[in-house]
Amino acid sequence: MKGKAEIVGGGFAGLTAACALAQRGWRVRLHERADRLRTAGAGINIYQNGLRVLEAVGAAEDTLRDAARHLTRETRDQDDRLHSTYPWTIPVYGVLRQKMIDALAAAARRAGAEILTNSEGTGATPDGELILASGEKTKADLIVAADGVNSRIRDGLGLVAHRRFLLDGAIRVLVPKLDPSEATDGRTIEYWSGNRRFLYNPCDTRELYLAMTMLHEDAEARALPLNKPVWKKSFPHLVHLIDRIGEGRYDRFEYIRLKRWSAGKVTVIGDAAHAIPPNIGQGAGCAMMNALSLSHYLDRSRNVSEGLNLWEEKERPLTNHTQRISLFLGMPTFWPAPLRSMFHSLAGRSKWLTAQRTRTARHIPTGTTT
Ligand SMILES: Cc1cc2nc3c(=O)[nH]c(=O)nc-3n(C[C@H](O)[C@H](O)[C@H](O)COP(=O)(O)OP(=O)(O)OC[C@H]3O[C@@H](n4cnc5c(N)ncnc54)[C@H](O)[C@@H]3O)c2cc1C
Repeated sequence: MKGKAEIVGGGFAGLTAACALAQRGWRVRLHERADRLRTAGAGINIYQNGLRVLEAVGAAEDTLRDAARHLTRETRDQDDRLHSTYPWTIPVYGVLRQKMIDALAAAARRAGAEILTNSEGTGATPDGELILASGEKTKADLIVAADGVNSRIRDGLGLVAHRRFLLDGAIRVLVPKLDPSEATDGRTIEYWSGNRRFLYNPCDTRELYLAMTMLHEDAEARALPLNKPVWKKSFPHLVHLIDRIGEGRYDRFEYIRLKRWSAGKVTVIGDAAHAIPPNIGQGAGCAMMNALSLSHYLDRSRNVSEGLNLWEEKERPLTNHTQRISLFLGMPTFWPAPLRSMFHSLAGRSKWLTAQRTRTARHIPTGTTT
């Protein structure tokens, strides 16, 4: 099945869908409401599953130029004591978000997709009509809503089964490296101190990505500009890093589950469909996998309805698993420190939990082997 596709949203989900559909012969138009394709949130970790999708759509090389390969993931406490360590046996990279957006956009354009900025989708009907803020109405064989957590297209179709803010959120920043040799040993480290977390995450030859997670009610920890004395008190041995922090951005975590991932000719992908707390860093990974597999199933179906049904039936269980395990791994945030430390030590040694935690990362995404 091929035809005309209108995509709303130029984030990781929408751009991957644009690449994958255009590469399979669809006529693709993507609408991004901002005046340019840009992303907030500093850096991001992409695991083997996401890397395979990037490879399949032709965006891996540009994304990974100057990226940081991760070899080991450590969990430590506020005194820098090691609680668990996990050596990656699959490829994992920290990358700059903007670089990945630019790489996906370039691949989508190479495949023939048209990308319109300053173009906002305001609604869509199950029979395939997209309504734009400009007043334009256009018909398509497929409409892809990739317009993020606050998706207007999704809400207009009444697809939400469950949506809630979680109790925590994060400030994300990039800090320049002092010199290129800093942070080249392949370690990412998550430090815990009470309810606060500090993620130390190389992502580029020139910059480090830092993410500070806290309870939303912890107003002094989520204040911007960053309340450095508060964070230094929680993580005294990280003073040298905290001193280098400049502008950041705070986002509260959200969880979204839909009744269905589509209504007629309209389908919802990415955070709009399944926002996930970032405890295993798989929101964009799932978004990109689902965008690619969508095009794969449509390619093998007689019509859009058959393709969308098959796609959701086959692909949704892994996304459901990813949401469940991410929620579970966020729970220690609310536990007393001794219990949390015990959990991290045991979790690091548990083969079962490690398998659950890394299942999405190790998955071979549909559409990457054919
Ligand atoms: C702290 C934190 C850390 C994270 N770390 C990771 C990680 O390491 N690895 C990982 O895989 N994931 C991670 N994630 C999750 C990841 O950031 C998201 O899952 C991903 O960005 C979702 O992409 P998206 O394209 O669905 O949505 P978005 O990135 O939100 O993109 C939506 C796009 O649609 C546009 N838009 C919105 N409304 C309209 C409209 N009406 N018309 C036209 N355009 C519109 C927006 O401007 C935007 O460009 C993290 C998230 C957080 C909060």
